[in-house]
Amino acid sequence: MANPLYDQLFGKHAGQNTPFLLLPDGSCLCHDDFLQQAAQIANTLNMLGLTPGDRVAVQVEKSAQSLAVYAACAQAGLIFLPLNTAYTEDELAYFIENSSATLILCDSSRQTGIAPIAKRLGAQLETLDADGSGSLMDKAATCERQFATVDRNGDDLAAFLYTSGTTGRSKGAMLTQDNLLSNAQTLVSEWRFTENDVLLHALPIFHTHGLFVATNVTLIAGGSMIFLPKFNLDQMIDWLPRATTMMGVPTFYTRLLDDPRFDRELSQHMRLFISGSAPLLAETHVQFENRTGHRILERYGMTETNMNTSNPYDGERRAGTVGFPLPGVELKVSDPETGQTLPQGEIGQIEVRGPNVFKGYWQMPQKTAEELREDGYFITGDLGQIDADGYVHIVGRNKDLIISGGYNIYPKEIELVLDEQPGVLESAVIGVPHPDFGETVVAVVVPAPDQTPDIAEIKANIGGSLAGFKHPRKIEILDALPRNTMGKVQKNILRDRYQDIFQ
Ligand code: ATP
Ligand code: MG
Repeated sequence: MANPLYDQLFGKHAGQNTPFLLLPDGSCLCHDDFLQQAAQIANTLNMLGLTPGDRVAVQVEKSAQSLAVYAACAQAGLIFLPLNTAYTEDELAYFIENSSATLILCDSSRQTGIAPIAKRLGAQLETLDADGSGSLMDKAATCERQFATVDRNGDDLAAFLYTSGTTGRSKGAMLTQDNLLSNAQTLVSEWRFTENDVLLHALPIFHTHGLFVATNVTLIAGGSMIFLPKFNLDQMIDWLPRATTMMGVPTFYTRLLDDPRFDRELSQHMRLFISGSAPLLAETHVQFENRTGHRILERYGMTETNMNTSNPYDGERRAGTVGFPLPGVELKVSDPETGQTLPQGEIGQIEVRGPNVFKGYWQMPQKTAEELREDGYFITGDLGQIDADGYVHIVGRNKDLIISGGYNIYPKEIELVLDEQPGVLESAVIGVPHPDFGETVVAVVVPAPDQTPDIAEIKANIGGSLAGFKHPRKIEILDALPRNTMGKVQKNILRDRYQDIFQ
């Protein structure tokens, strides 16, 4: 027997002095040292009485040690369950209870608050701090640097990853070893990752983007990562010359573009910039190319499926699209009402099938049955269309679709027009309850720096571009759109805020 995930991501680097993590203090952790640390943690988890299949809930800062916990879980056959560091104790209690995790790993600053939750739910509690210290590593220091890898097969669960909670309560996606491995292998070959790559990594590792896309791809390719705790402009600019590739959410790219130090010279040596997790505005894509000469490669995925589509490495990376289905991934667009596949070019719900698609939501059989069809297709909750050349366009979330007076209104179509208006930096369009229409359109615009958008002028301009039923009945100005840690616009917050304006 073997343990495919551990063997192919980690085990194959055993005994190798090759660089793996370049850390902010300038030090470098090689593959073998990382693996020895992971083995010490695996021994510790074993000593704590955890057995294969147990869940390890991890709410800690990003560090080499916290990544080693992921490797340790893979090696010991435990289910890794990373959690957003922003979650409050109440939120945490939900995740622990929902997953019935046997161990919680937290920052020591939160130990007092979390201890009663752990006690109530019968979970053990250990600490791990941003600097790699804490009770877990104290125990690990006394353990063997070798661990007998636990046998697993590709169908065994490797991780529970909770969705970002953008459209409702986060759901625990059950991901198998094969889900993770198959996708990482595909991405390595699609994006041409090799052992010479140095990935600039400033994403959190509690989310699929930073954890599975960035880390698994780097591990399979045998390259290294500049492992920064979070996005910091000065740090990014300092480290860019040492990187060959970068993965980021769209806000990383807009923030880099806002800084004049980020220029052609600084990015000339780079091999590839990749974006995902939220829509990259076509305008950002164009601005980026004008500044650096690079075309950002945008891809599309989610917690439940890892990555589904990608723009091509060779060939046209088309702005405003997420490219083509990855090899092995089937993608179709269906009618949300009937579930029937729609003719090419029409807007409908995106469904995907492939070895990347998860096993279901943990302890949510009804939700799983609603979204995961018996034939293996997963209904993503996103609306999209496939253009004549086969590029997939994401139009928005099904839940954000506005139905006003019987008409379907896609917020993105209106946002694209608003974003073009003088004085507007960005916008978000939502549906709010309306006594006559059921729902109607409200737009929120964020002013460009030092400008004040003229609402009357915007309304007049929109008249020529959009049919009357799509016109926002109200346009509100806000300093910034509410966004979560992954840079996703939280439309539910906007809907709550404006829900009564027509009542
Ligand atoms: P929840 O499912 O809890 O509401 P979430 O869907 O935001 O949260 P994630 O799994 O982190 O949780 O995000 C996946 C979603 O992110 C996709 O379904 C899609 O809506 C969006 N997304 C990812 N990449 C892109 C992209 N390139 N363009 C547009 N949207 C994207
Ligand atoms: Mg989702």
